[in-house]
Amino acid sequence: MIPIAKPMLGKEEIDAVTEVLNSGMIAQGPKVEEFELAFSEYNDCEYAVAVNSGTAALHIALLAHGIGKGDEVITSPFSFIATANSILYTGAKPVFADIEPDTYNIDPEKILEKITLKTRAIMPVHLYGHPADMKAIMEIADDNKLIVIEDACQSHGAECLGKKVGSFGTGAFSFYPTKNMTTSEGGMLTTNDKEIAEKAKMIRAHGSKVRYLHEMLGFNLRMTDIAAAIGLVQLGKLDGFTSARQKNAKTLSAGLEKVSEVVPPVIKTGCTHVFHQYTIRAEKRDQLAAFLKERDIGTGIHYPIPIHKQPLYRELGYRDSLQVSEKAAEDVLSLPVHPMLSRTDLQEIIETTKEFYAKD
Ligand SMILES: *Cc1c(COP(=O)(O)O)cnc(C)c1O
Repeated sequence: MIPIAKPMLGKEEIDAVTEVLNSGMIAQGPKVEEFELAFSEYNDCEYAVAVNSGTAALHIALLAHGIGKGDEVITSPFSFIATANSILYTGAKPVFADIEPDTYNIDPEKILEKITLKTRAIMPVHLYGHPADMKAIMEIADDNKLIVIEDACQSHGAECLGKKVGSFGTGAFSFYPTKNMTTSEGGMLTTNDKEIAEKAKMIRAHGSKVRYLHEMLGFNLRMTDIAAAIGLVQLGKLDGFTSARQKNAKTLSAGLEKVSEVVPPVIKTGCTHVFHQYTIRAEKRDQLAAFLKERDIGTGIHYPIPIHKQPLYRELGYRDSLQVSEKAAEDVLSLPVHPMLSRTDLQEIIETTKEFYAKD
């Protein structure tokens, strides 16, 4: 079986965890601080705040910016549900702007149409590891005095115009096992704003800076030193993982280039793509996925139902018609691109895809 994702954990991670376990300091401690420092440096940000999931990073980012009831946040409907749900948690309203058909990222033109007097923030998602159009989004944000919270949960290390994603506005990263780097469960908020970093740290720990003095309502969203120890090792390997993903993507695109039923992913000028997913548009998508599965090749659909069409959002009264997202949900298929793939695996993915379209 060629799986769609595979975490790359080795002896270094095991040793790092063992060291933490032996230290007896297993909750948030010095490793978390070390990981935050290393991640902020890697991401060219002043501050990084570690939390226990990417969802928590998004949630805390919104809260730290004071977003809540009565506010609207414009985001992409074509993402994992956590993106929009983090907005719901705060009492604010997610407002969906449709995506670009080639990058699958939020379309700046569509953002403009959704701005109202209640809009406080834009939450772009750098989907599949390809940066959203941050030049246009930052301009819109500046012109309309809006906060930008980047969902960078799939795009560790990706760059837009020479800048790391998550360093334009307030960034949120996930370290779930299928992501480009992992801590098991885990997440990170990145910012250049000292006040936001301090608030996020308080919200992470029951609204307290000083033990047992609680200045605001917070949560327990802390990362453990066990997770941070894994994260430190993984961060050191991240650039190597990314190059392997990019190389695999290149091989796949070269192999699929002549298959007229398939549209390979694009890389826009000024962007680096870190290929969290290698996602094609494919004719007869479901049949292709079934054929690949029969041949022991795992695939994924990211995502089969746009967020505004999810039962939860229907229930909340959402009746948007967002054609580009809805069409993408019918067409997209992610093929394996992770660093563990061999040359033979890649050839097999390409040849099996070709065989599927050649047979009828
Ligand atoms: C994974 C992911 C999240 C949530 O991260 P968790 O660590 O699973 O909470 C949010 N947004 C996007 C786009 C993701 O891919």
